[in-house]
Amino acid sequence: MRGTKLKIAVQKSGRLSDDSTNLLKRCGVKFNNGLGKLKSEAENFPIEIYFLRDDDIPQYVADGVADIGIVGENVLAETRQNVDSIEKLGFGKCRLSLAVPKNFQYQSIKDFEGKRVATTYPQIVREFFAANNIAADIHTISGSAEIAPSIGLADAICDLVSSGSTLFTNGLREVETVMLSEAVLIVRKTLSPELQTILDKLLFRIKSVKAAAQNKYILLNAPNENLAEIIALLPGMRSPSVLPLADSDWSSVHSVINENDFWTVVESLKSKGAEGILVLAIDQMIQ
Ligand code: ATP
Ligand code: ZN
Repeated sequence: MRGTKLKIAVQKSGRLSDDSTNLLKRCGVKFNNGLGKLKSEAENFPIEIYFLRDDDIPQYVADGVADIGIVGENVLAETRQNVDSIEKLGFGKCRLSLAVPKNFQYQSIKDFEGKRVATTYPQIVREFFAANNIAADIHTISGSAEIAPSIGLADAICDLVSSGSTLFTNGLREVETVMLSEAVLIVRKTLSPELQTILDKLLFRIKSVKAAAQNKYILLNAPNENLAEIIALLPGMRSPSVLPLADSDWSSVHSVINENDFWTVVESLKSKGAEGILVLAIDQMIQ
């Protein structure tokens, strides 16, 4: 494809890589991300994909080397580059937390006063302590913060956590959440009108993919005597579709429900006599 292309930076290899490339693929963007590739041109959409270290992405976007990028909010907050974060992407969810060794008699955030805290996120941690009026000694390290207390390098750490199992296996206990994070789409401050048009198209697709991921398509058979109550449980995009079944006492009802309400709605539907409930994943949901 020729003409203007939007350059998007995604993580080369790490926790955000698969979700980032899968998101683009689900947006209908075809490209080859073979091992070791630095850059790839999409075949059917005017974008070029750059595969980079996540820490470098905010700066590349701020400098205009890339126009947009996908990074964790934690990285964005740490690097403080002047870019806009325009859409949360729903993956890469984690939290940046303070953790202390199990034998640390932790009572409150004041216990960090004068302590050595090892982290790869010094800016965020410094701001957090300043906001809480704590003078802690922050040690910037480049990785594996979880081992710092056991080797005597620090009294506590501040690191990313998702399940908490890494902390647990290193004898640490999570005591304060400093920030919540997920992957976001970041954009350079000024885009030409041509690039903005491409971004708008991509963003429209991203929103459809996200909406689809949060919703399920549900089909069920409802006894007509409870039809009104069953319909009331299912808002649908506009309202549920109701089709007569060959058995005139029953109808087939089709609708869309939110993943978060899913089990509660299914239980209520069953209690109203719904049968043959089928739940399907949705690929795209255009709103
Ligand atoms: P790179 O080589 O690109 O610098 P990295 O080692 O810094 O990679 P990863 O560990 O791959 O980074 O994490 C990338 C991002 O994934 C994090 O910045 C964070 O936003 C997100 N993430 C989600 N869950 C976790 C977790 N449990 N631990 C660490 N990062 C997580
Ligand atoms: Zn990194």
